[in-house]
Amino acid sequence: MPLPPGRTRTTEAALSMTPSLADRLDDLLPQTQCGQCGFDGCRPYAEAMARGEADVDRCPPGGDAGARRLANLLGRPPLPYDRARGVHKPPQVALIVEADCIGCTKCIHACPVDAIIGGSRHMHVVVDPLCTGCELCVPACPVDCIVLAPAT
Ligand code: SF4
Ligand code: SF4
Ligand code: SF4
Repeated sequence: MPLPPGRTRTTEAALSMTPSLADRLDDLLPQTQCGQCGFDGCRPYAEAMARGEADVDRCPPGGDAGARRLANLLGRPPLPYDRARGVHKPPQVALIVEADCIGCTKCIHACPVDAIIGGSRHMHVVVDPLCTGCELCVPACPVDCIVLAPAT
């Protein structure tokens, strides 16, 4: 494909490697993929902010400090995060109470980052380093055998 006037292949390559505004906003988000912002994960929220369609106060996991960083990047006045969307918590991970797990696989389907492993009718486990503590697996479990613990 021909290059635009005044562009060389070197400038095109440099431009393609420059992080977009959405990239830089996404880098400031906690990446729990919890959906409390009302978007289907951190990246869609970052893209909405970059388009000017969402404010900086929608992410409880990021808390007030996160909202301030987003506002700084966008050159907007700082805002506290919206408490109606959830509560800012210290880092946490999910644990499955093995003795109670019936192996229904519902938690696997609820986890946005594939941090749960296990087969049908077999006990399931959470892979700690992958778990973001988003809590989405907790309401999915029909026997309430998933608990959250502080991340170490
Ligand atoms: S609320 Fe924050 S951490 Fe959760 S998905 Fe939205 S941007 Fe990501
Ligand atoms: S295991 Fe549970 S808390 Fe951890 S990332 Fe998956 S859904 Fe979220
Ligand atoms: S949803 Fe609960 S019972 Fe079902 S596999 Fe996951 S932890 Fe086990």
